[in-house]
Amino acid sequence: MNQQETNTGTYSVEAFSAFIQKFQETLSSVFSEEKNVKDTSINRGVPGMVMRDVLDCKPLSVFIPQEYEGRGTDTAECLKVLEVASYHSLPLSLMIGINGALFLQPLSLYGQESLKKKVYYDFIHNRKMGGLMITEPKYGSDALHMQTKFSESDKGFHIEGTKHWAGLTGWADYWLLTARREDKNGNLSRDIEFFVHNKEAGGIEVTEVFNNLGLYMLPYGRNKINTSLSPESKLEPRTTGVKMMLDILHRSRLQFPGMAMGFIKRNMDEAIKHCSERMVGNKPLFSYDQVQERISKLQSFFTTCSAMCAYTSENAKMNMDLARADLQANTIKTLVTDYMQESAQSLLQLVGAIGYRQEHVAGKGTIDSRPFQIFEGSNDILYQQITESVVKSMRKMKETNLLSFLKQHELSLKSSDRLTKVLDINIDYANLSQRKLVDLGRALARVFSMNFVITLGEKGFRSDLIQNSIDHLSQEISQFVNAFQNKKELSVVADYHDESNWANYL
Ligand SMILES: Cc1cc2nc3c(=O)[nH]c(=O)nc-3n(C[C@H](O)[C@H](O)[C@H](O)COP(=O)(O)OP(=O)(O)OC[C@H]3O[C@@H](n4cnc5c(N)ncnc54)[C@H](O)[C@@H]3O)c2cc1C
Repeated sequence: MNQQETNTGTYSVEAFSAFIQKFQETLSSVFSEEKNVKDTSINRGVPGMVMRDVLDCKPLSVFIPQEYEGRGTDTAECLKVLEVASYHSLPLSLMIGINGALFLQPLSLYGQESLKKKVYYDFIHNRKMGGLMITEPKYGSDALHMQTKFSESDKGFHIEGTKHWAGLTGWADYWLLTARREDKNGNLSRDIEFFVHNKEAGGIEVTEVFNNLGLYMLPYGRNKINTSLSPESKLEPRTTGVKMMLDILHRSRLQFPGMAMGFIKRNMDEAIKHCSERMVGNKPLFSYDQVQERISKLQSFFTTCSAMCAYTSENAKMNMDLARADLQANTIKTLVTDYMQESAQSLLQLVGAIGYRQEHVAGKGTIDSRPFQIFEGSNDILYQQITESVVKSMRKMKETNLLSFLKQHELSLKSSDRLTKVLDINIDYANLSQRKLVDLGRALARVFSMNFVITLGEKGFRSDLIQNSIDHLSQEISQFVNAFQNKKELSVVADYHDESNWANYL
């Protein structure tokens, strides 16, 4: 990046391509197969030399405004950095995602100016890191009822509570802490506020380090918080803290395709390479029909994820408030994380036993991608919310036919035309169990995603890949609509122990 570009605020394509190429080459070197086995896949943490080389490329600069020496918070650049990282290492991409979407972007949108200068300087020049603490041992999915509390005085804020599972536990220099205001009677307000904590302030003690199943590069644990912060530490919401939290979380969910993009592409590349080289029964694996079905699915995940990246780049810019973008954010987060997990599982199936090793890209990817379906909104809950949001709008319009509704919805204007038969169903609002909401949510996420794919195709993306993705999504939509319509409400037998041992019935 040269000086002139910083001053004018414009970046030539060449400047970004040179930046990303250097990053790409560095990652190819530090995550080479030989080093990967020794250093980065089976040991916890990140070797100092690897971290130094990675941070020397300044990947976090894409999340920092230009006036603070960053590249300028362009969403497409952020996604490209996440993509390049996840091709080589999903944990590294998540580490960049945590710093970017869960710390630097919220700071840039809601932080007080007096604080930004020092924090950004620290990130650019002193290799500092930041994360976000929301989850508590008793309040995960139910985060709005968190018990971490704060009180305010002339000097600033005092915060107390317990948080766990925050990515970069014990490692980050800065945290965004979330808490509820405590009144004189000890009651907690319904709103949630965010505070920037600097390590130098002290008062965050790691009381337990977790043996996380995967993502070895990232430390997790439990933190006890008892800290005092200055008035400038508080983020300033435009309206309520909860709306600010929704803007932050939706923005983050919309950027998941960046982390998914490189990961899915890598799984696809590895599958094609392995199946071309591996001979089974005197012919390459690639020639088997079932193998081709798996690889064609990987390709459809690749295309759908590409379409999501394009959508996010244009519709989740930093000057857009995303507090109300629940449908887009939940659609993209659920589907792309399900595809991440399915792509890793499929690659592991295709490579067979050699993939069942910690240092193999398939085995590692299966474990590393799993929690993406859990964090930042459990997929079961988000699929339910997608349907609830659609049903709420249908009720308002007094519309019961799903197709008629989706034909008018901006997220399905194009895809609904291709799904006229399968979506022509009436929704019985009064009779929607949670499991039905989830199934319909799965179908709807795919209908909206197909719209992203069609739009990408109209812009000139390879037509054979677009068609493959549309066909795959159509197939999945039929399956989930069918599941929704024919669901049997199977009951749970909680006390199942009596008369349930097969050996008594021989
Ligand atoms: C690897 C990893 C990284 C993380 N990173 C961070 C981070 O950086 N910062 C942070 O603050 N937190 C982080 N978390 C925490 C994460 O956000 C929570 O785990 C998540 O919100 C779920 O909360 P929980 O684990 O308490 O599960 P619970 O809330 O107990 O939910 C467990 C499961 O129960 C089901 N469930 C829950 N509620 C409902 C419902 N209403 N209807 C139907 N089913 C339901 C869902 O299947 C859900 O997955 C991380 C977690 C992991 C595993």
